[in-house]
Amino acid sequence: MTEQTASQDPDEPEGSSEEIPAPATVPDQRVKKAKRPSSRPDVFFTPVSNGMDYLVSVLKHLTEGATPPSARDLKYTVLHLQAATEVLLKARLAREHFSLIFVDPLQANRDAWKKGDFKSCGTLEAFDRLVKIAGLPLEEDDRKRIGELSDHRNALQHYGLKYNAYAIESRAARVLDFLITFIHRHLIPGLEPDEATSVERDMDSFRLKLKGIETLVKQRMNDLKSELAKVADVTVKCPDCEQWALVADGGDEGPTCLFCHQVWPEDPESAAANYAWIVLGLDDHSAIQDGGDPPVVDCPACGAYALVTEAVTAAGQPGATPLCFSCGSVFKDLIGCEAGCGAVLDIAPGDDAIPLCPDCLDSRIARF
Ligand SMILES: [Zn+2]
Ligand SMILES: [Zn+2]
Ligand SMILES: [Zn+2]
Repeated sequence: MTEQTASQDPDEPEGSSEEIPAPATVPDQRVKKAKRPSSRPDVFFTPVSNGMDYLVSVLKHLTEGATPPSARDLKYTVLHLQAATEVLLKARLAREHFSLIFVDPLQANRDAWKKGDFKSCGTLEAFDRLVKIAGLPLEEDDRKRIGELSDHRNALQHYGLKYNAYAIESRAARVLDFLITFIHRHLIPGLEPDEATSVERDMDSFRLKLKGIETLVKQRMNDLKSELAKVADVTVKCPDCEQWALVADGGDEGPTCLFCHQVWPEDPESAAANYAWIVLGLDDHSAIQDGGDPPVVDCPACGAYALVTEAVTAAGQPGATPLCFSCGSVFKDLIGCEAGCGAVLDIAPGDDAIPLCPDCLDSRIARF
């Protein structure tokens, strides 16, 4: 499979990653290596070079074409980055035990594995198994990025490309950074010396190209520096490109990212919910389950359901600053409605306003 899937021309069908039966070439490898006594007979090598080939393609599409990359280059960036991630994570997982790449390890059998004829687990599942079973110290942030990459790839295949060049470039750089470290720490140490040397050589060129991409991203952020400095109190990390460039200043066009140009036209509520979920990892459902406060509430200034109570602004980081994504108000003195309804009020200490939201106040008055 390596030769067909791995060195696949980018012009080939984009559905590549769906057909990544990780261990298809394993039998050959194993036959060749059968004479060598080994305590780890299940180690196989080809998927690593397969994943590396996808990375070569990703870096080529990101660095060798137009700036910013064309829609076609971005498409292959997303597709091949996802494929590389899947193949490389599973290569490491199979090294632990081949059954772990089956969707249900209890149903694993060696014959099916040798033939590559089985349903394998998803990319995130592979990530989780590497953490929980293989005990690799992988970061939750990287898990989130990989999950977004898979969603992104699926969306791309079904609905076409929706995100813009700057967002994809900036996010791809972070996943590439993860993969390069992953290969170095968790894959190379188990390779045969020859393959390890050749992979190490490729890695040097990967790092150089990744540096180039990161420099572009940095330069772009630098160009925005003075503009962003003026609005630091209402600027947060963008859920799309992960840069500190999403400005929620209450402007007519709604929250806007100066880096990737993502906008939520007339929909600050979605921007707030997106930000809370993707950047802060908070959503209503789990907040309520954990007995905590909802991450987004009605704004006491404008009434929109767009006040993120724990927003982290460029000016206020690392602390939390309540920021309304609709009117751009920043609050210092928020308190909860005394009736416990979950509404918040903007009442400074010493102010003798009644600590009740209008609804709760009305219903109390009605009782008298
Ligand atoms: Zn952005
Ligand atoms: Zn507001
Ligand atoms: Zn209330």
